[in-house]
Formats: sequence, C-alpha cells, structure tokens
Amino acid sequence: VEGAISLDQIDTLAKRSMPLCMSNLHSHLRSAHHLKHGGRRQYGLFLKDIGLSMEDSLNFWRAEFTQMMTLDKFSKSYAYSIRHNYGKEGRRVESRAFSCVRIITANAPGPADHHGCPFRHFSPEKLAHTLTAKGVGGAGLKEILNLIAGHHYQIACTRYFELTHPDAETVQPIEHPNAFFTQSEAYWR
Ligand code: SF4
Repeated sequence: VEGAISLDQIDTLAKRSMPLCMSNLHSHLRSAHHLKHGGRRQYGLFLKDIGLSMEDSLNFWRAEFTQMMTLDKFSKSYAYSIRHNYGKEGRRVESRAFSCVRIITANAPGPADHHGCPFRHFSPEKLAHTLTAKGVGGAGLKEILNLIAGHHYQIACTRYFELTHPDAETVQPIEHPNAFFTQSEAYWR
C-alpha cells in the first residue's frame, strides 16, 4: 500500500527486514550517495512495492544524490526515472519489483554495480564477510556457503532468513525480495 512505510523508518527496516540484495543497495546508497542504473531500478522498485510513496522516494533519492551533484542535475537526470517507476512518466505503466529469479539470472552486475543477488554475485569471501556482519557465523555460515557452492541461491537466502528469525514457526521459501521483507516484518511485529 502506497505510504505504508515512511522515510524515517527506512534505516531500521533495512537493518531488520530487508533481504541482503536490498540492504546491500541501501548501505551503498547511504555511504556513496549514488547508485548506478541497475541498483536504482532494483532498489527503487522494491521500495515502491513495500509502500514508500512517490513523494518520499523522490525525497529519499534526492537527499542522497544531491550530496554528490547539484539539485538541477538530479532533477534533470534522475527524478524522471523515479516517477517512471511509479507509472507517472512514459507509457504510464507502473513497474513491479523484480523477483529473485530475475535478479539472479538477468543483468549480472559489473564491477561498479551493486545490484544483483549477494548469494549469486558476491565472491564467497565477500558473502562470508557480509553474513558475519549480520550475525550469521559458525555452522550456519558453513551451510550457506555449501548451498551457494551448489548454486542453490534462493535456498541459501531462505536459510539466511531462518537463521536471522530463529523463532519463526514456518518460513516460506524465498522467491521474491518483497516477500522476504513482508515475512520478516510479520515476524518482528
Ligand atoms: Fe534477494 Fe532473492 Fe537473492 Fe534473497 S535470493 S538476496 S531475496 S535476490
């Protein structure tokens, strides 16, 4: 539902309930104040579908990007694509957030990109480092690294969900980043 989440919650939500593909984009945007096209699209559509309004989205991206560029450049080069995500430009068709299969199989990230799926696109070393920072170590970490060695990326993500939501009674297999988020928020509420 548009407006279901507000900007002041977003850092907490990134930490608590976003899957790694999205919390990774969030951290990079916060630290570098920029994301390339693939990241803007993957994260922007995710945010729209978890309920960030278009106005909040514009405020969010503007506040980061204008730390690296003028407001004029932001308005001319970037605001359009945010409104486009919401179906307010171009063909006026609202786009949907990408599924895991799409993120894992299409448009692999280049060296300067931050989109993609960490279970698929990070090196095992970088993934291990990221998981450790999220509190996943020991046997759980080993298990996840074995799953990605066998190319079971979504199962690895589901296992990550289970390990970071230890009291969940049943966990739906992860097929969509937005479903990961919704399932996590239901857990924490
Ligand atoms: Fe994101 Fe899906 Fe990869 Fe999990 S499996 S990190 S939700 S793309």
